[in-house]
Amino acid sequence: MTDRYAVIGNPVAHSRSPSIHARFAKQTGEDVEYGRLLVPLDGFVEAVERFRDAGGRGLNVTLPFKPEAFAWAARRSERARVAGAVNTLRFDREGAWGDNTDGAGLVRDLEDRLELALAGRSVLILGAGGATRGVLGPLLDAGVARLTIANRTPGRAIELVDEFLRTSASAAPAAGRLRGCGFDDAGDGHDLVVNATSAGLAGDRLPIADALLAGAVLAYDMFYAARETAFVAQALAAGCPRACDGLGMLVEQAAESFFVWRGVRPLTAPVYEALRAELAAEAG
Ligand code: NAP
Repeated sequence: MTDRYAVIGNPVAHSRSPSIHARFAKQTGEDVEYGRLLVPLDGFVEAVERFRDAGGRGLNVTLPFKPEAFAWAARRSERARVAGAVNTLRFDREGAWGDNTDGAGLVRDLEDRLELALAGRSVLILGAGGATRGVLGPLLDAGVARLTIANRTPGRAIELVDEFLRTSASAAPAAGRLRGCGFDDAGDGHDLVVNATSAGLAGDRLPIADALLAGAVLAYDMFYAARETAFVAQALAAGCPRACDGLGMLVEQAAESFFVWRGVRPLTAPVYEALRAELAAEAG
């Protein structure tokens, strides 16, 4: 019997997840159907329970419901707990299992597709919202030597670091490696600069020094688009030798969700290529 999955959110029409998971299912031969669930802002729990009770096997959760999915899940992974957000729900006999695959997706895209070994690197993350919170633990677990979180509102970055150090199982090994600050105080010598702000949506340039980008081996924008993103353009113009957007992270976090549900790891490279071509064709 075909197992049913879906992405739930508001809005959800833009989501690439159905196209990604259809490709994973075809490639692996898993008998899976994957749809979209647009639900009202006050209707998340009701919609999830209806989907589950009708035999649905799991959901991807997107904005703005990730914290609500975290609160609702009966059991959660450690990486979901650190993120305070769930993007993957699996319906088991023992109850709903909540996980967060965003950080694993970023690490896999960086290390496998982009061949940037993270161990010993200095990493600067711009932004201190939900996306940053989701990737902190996995980046530290990958062995980065230094992780700096710089935010437009410095207090939010400092608070995020304090909370992580207070509550995470990775806190002891993270002490001394993790720091929160404002953009002006980001320090230098970072190998990797990651844009995790939502400034890309408006195409805004980030107020960071060109030298920060010129000195990095890679600039990575979590935001993705059919055309070059504002941050990729900014990094290349500043002299960074290599810059890319977050389409690979999107595909990798989806592959990690597929693994959580099916216990099978799909090949991501052909799906990334197909999606990139799809985006380019849509842009004309
Ligand atoms: P969020 O929770 O709303 O956080 C937004 C962050 O951006 C805050 O730190 C905010 O700073 C900062 N910001 C917003 N506008 C800015 C501006 N004009 N200049 C400087 N900083 C600005 O958003 P999020 O959920 O973390 O998502 C962040 C980005 O990651 C989005 O573009 C999202 O699409 C992307 N993302 C991609 C993937 C993927 O798979 N590729 C996965 C997750 C997220 P303040 O605190 O000062 O307001």
